[in-house]
Amino acid sequence: YKTSLEDDVVGKSRTSSADNFITDSAAGGTAVFSGVKTLNNMVGVDSSSTPRGTILEAAKAAGYITGVITTSFVWDASPAGLNAHSTNREDSSFIAQQQLGLDGYPLGRTTDILLGGGLCAYIPESEEDSCRTDERDLLNETMGLWNVVFTPDELSAADALPLLGLFATEDLAYAIDRPDSQPGLAAMVNKALELLTAATADSDQGFFLFFENEVTDKAQHANDIVGTVSAGLELSETAELVKEWVTVLEERGDDTLFLLTADHETGGLGLGTNARSPIVEYTYGFNPFVIANASHSSTYTTILLYAATAEGNLTLDQVHQVVADNMALQYFSDDEANVIIEAANTGDVYSILAALNAAVNSRVQVGWTTMGHTAVDVDIYCSNNPYCSAFYGSHENTELLELMLGFYDDDDIDVGSVTEALVGFNATASVDGSAEYVV
Ligand SMILES: [Zn+2]
Repeated sequence: YKTSLEDDVVGKSRTSSADNFITDSAAGGTAVFSGVKTLNNMVGVDSSSTPRGTILEAAKAAGYITGVITTSFVWDASPAGLNAHSTNREDSSFIAQQQLGLDGYPLGRTTDILLGGGLCAYIPESEEDSCRTDERDLLNETMGLWNVVFTPDELSAADALPLLGLFATEDLAYAIDRPDSQPGLAAMVNKALELLTAATADSDQGFFLFFENEVTDKAQHANDIVGTVSAGLELSETAELVKEWVTVLEERGDDTLFLLTADHETGGLGLGTNARSPIVEYTYGFNPFVIANASHSSTYTTILLYAATAEGNLTLDQVHQVVADNMALQYFSDDEANVIIEAANTGDVYSILAALNAAVNSRVQVGWTTMGHTAVDVDIYCSNNPYCSAFYGSHENTELLELMLGFYDDDDIDVGSVTEALVGFNATASVDGSAEYVV
């Protein structure tokens, strides 16, 4: 099996932040989009907390149309790295308000399409599922300013900009676990490209679109190989779709660059782990059929086991049933089921996840070095454009901004003048810092 991206690897990016070999997504995004190394946890500011303009903001100021799509919450660190400035990535309310262009934000609204999860930062604290610490109602405040959609059907019917799509309280589900109430990454990207292509039909400028599959990060944080592979396949499918759109745009006479990279690696995933597989005994093994047999991720299956525990002690039969229904592990033994029951008895969901992952990972023969990020260099992918050669070789993540700007050949895209426009903007003006979720 080959993904649609394998022939497109052109270079590597070194991902360290200003204060750590191992970056988080806030510093990682800031490096790529603003061209400066900053401290972990800070987004859109340099290491002395000064706001720095981003490629998206500069493109918008030069007349381009812009879009940001994520499978995470829209105010998460990577999307925020394009259209917000905060010394605290967890400050969901502060970031969400900037992304919408509210509160007299000095740059106004810089984003024309914003799609993902994260509804919790838009609703007042007193409402269920809110992650705010005040009574502001951002959905109400966006009325008349944004077209807002909440379902895949509403997304597919959307025909006007600016478009805000919020499809989950927090982040979207893994592709393999996705409910019908949420659109997939490919559907979001396809809709955005449809709207952006139409909106730039008569424009001298074009558009800047960012999309990310954050599930590759989240599933690897969980050391969840089924979730990880399902996210990779979704990314590959989306990349294929984007390449088809690039052809459409090129035929229209619009030179278009499709670039894909990561802000960091997560999990330290390795194949051929020495774990003794219950199925295969030799060391140089990798058994992807185990992944192919699963109908849900181990994260999803863990939540089912955890929920069942809350209703009373798990039985051996119950564990066998849930694991068979969702992961179809062959030769899953009573001993393995008992390890899960012991983990469940501690009441700790991560212990259940670890016990289940041990059964899955030993069969697939994959190993993980961490439940956090690593300092491994990440690939840069680029396809079918002569400008791809600019990305050949190994780069600091901060070099990518200049390389991307080089493609535009448009002096009006000036990140420095955006930084000047942000002078005096206080990126440490925390509104609440309520989000508990740091990845
Ligand atoms: Zn992460």
